[in-house]
Amino acid sequence: MATRKARLLLRAGSNVTVVAPQISAELEQLLADHGGVWQQSRYQETDLHGKKLVVAATPERATNEQIYRHAMALSLPVNVVDAPELCSFIFPSIIDRDPLLIAITSSGKSPVLTRILRRKIEAMVPAAYGRLAEFAGRFRQLVKEHIVQDTPRRLFWEQAMDGTLAEQVLAGREQQAEAQLRERLQDTHALHGGEVYLIGAGPGDPDLMTFKAARLLQSADVVLYDRLVSPVIVDMARRDAQRIYVGKKRADHTVAQTDINQLLLELAQQGKRVVRLKGGDPFIFGRGGEEIELLAKHRIPFQVVPGITAANGAACYAGIPLTHRDYAQSVRFVAGYLKGDKVEHDWSVFQSTTETLVFYMGLVGLPVICEQLQAHGRSPDTPVALVEHGTLLKQRVLLGTLATMAEVVEREKPTAPTLIIVGDVVRLHEDLSWFGEV
Ligand code: SAH
Repeated sequence: MATRKARLLLRAGSNVTVVAPQISAELEQLLADHGGVWQQSRYQETDLHGKKLVVAATPERATNEQIYRHAMALSLPVNVVDAPELCSFIFPSIIDRDPLLIAITSSGKSPVLTRILRRKIEAMVPAAYGRLAEFAGRFRQLVKEHIVQDTPRRLFWEQAMDGTLAEQVLAGREQQAEAQLRERLQDTHALHGGEVYLIGAGPGDPDLMTFKAARLLQSADVVLYDRLVSPVIVDMARRDAQRIYVGKKRADHTVAQTDINQLLLELAQQGKRVVRLKGGDPFIFGRGGEEIELLAKHRIPFQVVPGITAANGAACYAGIPLTHRDYAQSVRFVAGYLKGDKVEHDWSVFQSTTETLVFYMGLVGLPVICEQLQAHGRSPDTPVALVEHGTLLKQRVLLGTLATMAEVVEREKPTAPTLIIVGDVVRLHEDLSWFGEV
């Protein structure tokens, strides 16, 4: 207890004296590192003289009470650890985003509630917010000189701290942010330009989105989304944000890829903040590269936010480790769609029995995939799992082998999206999963 309190106080820059006959090696080191003092003796009233703040953390209730009384007599703020009735001040739970500091307390009523709340706030306030505060601090005076009146200055900062400029800082591009800030100072009425966020929404379960994805999604003016993105995730956008469905189904291209690229560009050029939501990760079979190519060419600012790809999500939820010390030392993500009636690959490269293969977009091509792997030498007994609607509540795992899987699929008629996992790691499913299976 004493060590924890001392660490907090030292970190805040206090001069700390610890009075105790013995202290832990950790505390001793902490004091040495921060110029604190260890006074090796039992507590006496005179120890309080000249001090500004007192923490009693002895294991003896009587001593703690005595310290409390002495401190009160000297009008010193005092905290007795784990005894709220003997505290004139408290140590709240803190979220440290130096120079930002958020303190939470339930006034001793429910530390658990405090912890839950803290977790929520931690998630809402990205680690980089400290940098943002630092950045704002650096330009506070400059902005004050440029915008003398209070209200326009407040508006300027409101826009800066909640817009593309803040995003630049959070993304670590402080130079660009500074350039943007200086530019805006020249013309405080100028509309800020558009920006595109290419966001991986994960494989389905909304909880698998990143904090960054959720935050940027909530800042969007327009959201373009795929068929693979759960409706719950699309609903996380602001209520008045425009939503545009650009989903693609196999052989039913609702909006052609070039049109999507063009749409992203035009919306950004109108000054909108555009979110392009993609299933899984934008750079894994997501054509994310093509979408930002055009933006880059037109110098539209963009960010790409990684997502949990279907292979990772589905494998974890199905209890199939993609690598394993004993079964697989590598894993390969493979496109499994049909071109005509073929899946085009150099099948001879898929022969390693210590490599897990994960086929995306392989449902229709599954019989061809199983057949080709065997034709090129993989054993018919090689285990295969097909994960249907991975990570969603309706997730189903179908099991078979290269020899039997086509039949299993024929019988069970799974629907897209599905993922096919091939390799010995599939055997671990039985031990490592708790989902229903067929
Ligand atoms: N960018 C995405 C992949 C897009 S390709 C990602 O990183 O996951 C689309 C293919 O992904 C589907 O055909 C299917 O094979 C796979 N897929 C996506 N979501 C899935 C899910 N919830 N369960 C199983 N497979 C999924």
